[in-house]
Amino acid sequence: MTNDLPRDDSGTDKFASGKLSSYSFEVGPIRPPSEGGSHSLLLRATRNCSWNRCRFCYGMIYNREKFQLRSVEDIKKDIDTVKAIADEIKAESWKLGYGGVVNADVGIDMVRNDPSLRANQSFIMVFDWLHFGGSTVFLQDANTLIMPTDQLLAVVKYLKEAFPAIERITSYARAKTLAKKSLDELKELNRAGLSRLHVGLETGDDEVLAYVDKGVTAAEQIEAGKKAAEAGLELSEYVMIDLGGRAMSEQHAKNTARVLNEINPDFIRLRPLMVGPGLPLYEDYAQGVFELSSPHERLREVKTLVENLHVTSRLSFDHFLNAWYRDSTRHNTLFKQDYDGYKFPEEKNKVLDLIEEGLRIDESAHIHVKEMIGMTHL
Ligand code: SF4
Repeated sequence: MTNDLPRDDSGTDKFASGKLSSYSFEVGPIRPPSEGGSHSLLLRATRNCSWNRCRFCYGMIYNREKFQLRSVEDIKKDIDTVKAIADEIKAESWKLGYGGVVNADVGIDMVRNDPSLRANQSFIMVFDWLHFGGSTVFLQDANTLIMPTDQLLAVVKYLKEAFPAIERITSYARAKTLAKKSLDELKELNRAGLSRLHVGLETGDDEVLAYVDKGVTAAEQIEAGKKAAEAGLELSEYVMIDLGGRAMSEQHAKNTARVLNEINPDFIRLRPLMVGPGLPLYEDYAQGVFELSSPHERLREVKTLVENLHVTSRLSFDHFLNAWYRDSTRHNTLFKQDYDGYKFPEEKNKVLDLIEEGLRIDESAHIHVKEMIGMTHL
C-alpha cells in the first residue's frame, strides 16, 4: 500500500518557485493513531516489516512486501523535498503578511493559485504538519530501528538540521531489534533527536508469544523496554487483548502485567485482537482451533491485566477496537479513547470501576469482534 507518488529527479532547480505541485516524497501506509493526533510528518526511512510473521498481522498492512532499507541518500532527498515544500509555504505566508505563520488563509491562497495542490499528498502533508506546529515526525515503516545505527543517526541529525523546531522524532521498533542495540547506541540516537518508540509487546506470555510467532521472548521484551527507558526514550507498549483467545486469557493477562511492571513504560496502549481472512490466526479460528473471547470475556481479561498492573504508566484505549459501550445505543464508549488515557496508579480504580460498569451492561450491548469483521456466520 505504498503511496507511490512520482519523484522529481530533475536536480536542485526543482525547488525553484512555481514547481511546488511536482514535488513529492515517499510515505508508507501506516502510523500509530497518536502520531495522527499530533499531525506528525510521516517520513519513510525503511519499507515494510522486517519480520512479517506474526500470525495476527502477517505484514498484511504492507501487502506482505519484502522489507527494504532505504539509502541515507534517498531519505535525505526526501527531507530536502519536505524542506522545499515547507519553504514555499512559508514564503507564501510572508507574502500574505502572516510573517511565516502557516494558517488556513495561506493554504486557500496557494490552492487558488495552483488547484492541483488540492490532490498533492506531499503538499497536503507538509501543510498540515506546519499548520499544527511542525514539531513532530514519525519515521516509517514497521521497524526502522533496524537501520544500522550510524545510518539512522545520519537521518535523524539531517532532519533536525533541516527543521530545528522539531521536538519529537518517533519510530516503531520490534522488541527483538531494540534488545540487540547497545545502550550506548540508543543513548546516542536519543541525544541526536530520536525521542519516542512504539513497541508491539502484544503479550508478556511466552506460550502466547510462541503461538503467534512474535519472534521474541518475554525476557527479551523486558530487556528491550528497560534499555529504551534507560536511554531516555519515551516508550509506548502495545498490548493485544484476546491474543491468547479463551484458552490462554488468564496467563496472557497476568504475564503481560508482569512484563509491563518490569518495564514501566510511559504508555500502555490496548489494541484488542482483530482477525480476518488471510491471517494464519484466522485459519485457526475458522477451524475451531482458536476461540475468540466474547465482549465480557475480553473485559474480564482487561480487568485481570489492570488488577495486576503496578506501574506509573498511562493506560490508553486509543483505538476503535476498544469498543465497549455504556449503554445499548452504542454512542458512549466505556473508556475514553484519547491518546493520554488514564494515569496509573492514581486512576487505576477508576478504570476498574468502568470495567465493572461494562460488565453490568448486557453483553449484547457491546460490539463483538465477530460483528466488526463480518464473521457472524461462523
Ligand atoms: S512485527 Fe509488527 S508489522 Fe511485522 S508482522 Fe509483526 S505485528 Fe506485523
